[in-house]
Amino acid sequence: MAKVVLVLYDDPVDGYPKSYPRDDLPKILKYPDGQIVPHPKAIDFTPGALLGSVSGELGLRKYLESQGHTLVVTSDKDGPNSRLEQELHDAEIVISQPFWPAYLTEERIAKAPKLKLAVTAGIGSDHVDLQAAIDRKITVTEVTFCNSISVAEHVVMMILGLVRNYIPSYNWVIKGGWNIADCVSRSYDVEGMHIGTVAAGRIGLAVLRRLKPFDVQLHYFDRHRLPEAVEKELDLHWHPNVEDMVTVCDVVTINCPLHPETEHMFDDKMLSKMKRGAYLVNTARGKICDRDAIVRALESGQLAGYAGDVWFPQPAPKDHPWRTMPHHGMTPHISGTSLSAQARYAAGVREILECWFEGRPIRDEYLIVDGGKLAGVGAHSYSAGDATKGSEEAARFQRAS
Ligand code: NDP
Repeated sequence: MAKVVLVLYDDPVDGYPKSYPRDDLPKILKYPDGQIVPHPKAIDFTPGALLGSVSGELGLRKYLESQGHTLVVTSDKDGPNSRLEQELHDAEIVISQPFWPAYLTEERIAKAPKLKLAVTAGIGSDHVDLQAAIDRKITVTEVTFCNSISVAEHVVMMILGLVRNYIPSYNWVIKGGWNIADCVSRSYDVEGMHIGTVAAGRIGLAVLRRLKPFDVQLHYFDRHRLPEAVEKELDLHWHPNVEDMVTVCDVVTINCPLHPETEHMFDDKMLSKMKRGAYLVNTARGKICDRDAIVRALESGQLAGYAGDVWFPQPAPKDHPWRTMPHHGMTPHISGTSLSAQARYAAGVREILECWFEGRPIRDEYLIVDGGKLAGVGAHSYSAGDATKGSEEAARFQRAS
């Protein structure tokens, strides 16, 4: 029987919800590319409930315990004395969400001799040292597509929020003001702007589709070009590299995974190639941007705004400069963990676990590493290597609280 360690974010500060603003979720059966949504044999949760926090347990306890497995649920994940580290010695499966990642570094993997499966309840397995997982033949999976549309919606919201100067204007209302000139002296229309995405995968393409009705010029860079019909339908300009794209864009959105090829892609050099006053929206991973270069670009006016929900490490320490830099629209990592998304990835995790325990193959679209190599979606979108370096900094969040 297996020990499963499930790392989740904390419950709300005023307790686990007793009720929700809405009574149901829309029923979605397929994703836009035809992929079927997760279909485990059963679920033991109510879609629309808070599943991603400790008390929600991703709805897994009943299932796992009925099969004789042990489930440990904790939010205490950082530092050598954390519950996660204490539980690693005999854990067979570690599950965590990118929003509150259980960093599985090489050192931690070495402390977990029985670890066989790392499940990302969401998308983006960069919190696992993929090279170490490959070397140890640990299977790494994620729930591909579960929250890609959730993120695409968030990206569009953030682009509009930055360009139209929404957050500062909202804040004038809260402060009791009616300061129209203060609000509009940084406010523009997106109509006619050139907007480009780094990567046109599930999220990137959904962002392009959602932006089309705004009458903007759409650009993308991706290592694999989209089908010609899609390029025509959306009137897309493809660029052979990121540098080429950013020179012409008013807004750039980053939608590629974090792996050694993309780490610090947006550094001083890349930012200097952007149009002065461009906006950058990053809901992919914090480490794709050089933290201090972003701050410098906002302070100098090279960037007019930066928004996103991804940081490095997570949780971000209280003194992380992105909390206080000018003209930002940052949130904690939330775009992919709406209640709607949680229902899908909780079901996806259940599906992966059912396959694992019953000896059935896990869908190719969920595999990142398997059998000692990148596999499935992982072989297409990732490169081998380690992007977890520096993650021990996450322990500072607790100390500063
Ligand atoms: P997909 O796998 O569908 O898309 C990723 C795309 O990135 C692929 O088209 C891939 O290209 C492309 N890509 C990979 N490497 C590069 C590179 N070096 N340069 C340019 N493009 C590259 O994943 P999703 O769209 O669903 O998700 C993308 C990322 O968004 C995730 O990996 C995760 O990091 C982040 N994410 C964030 C969430 C949040 O809550 N903020 C939630 C979900 C995801 P190709 O395969 O064609 O080579």
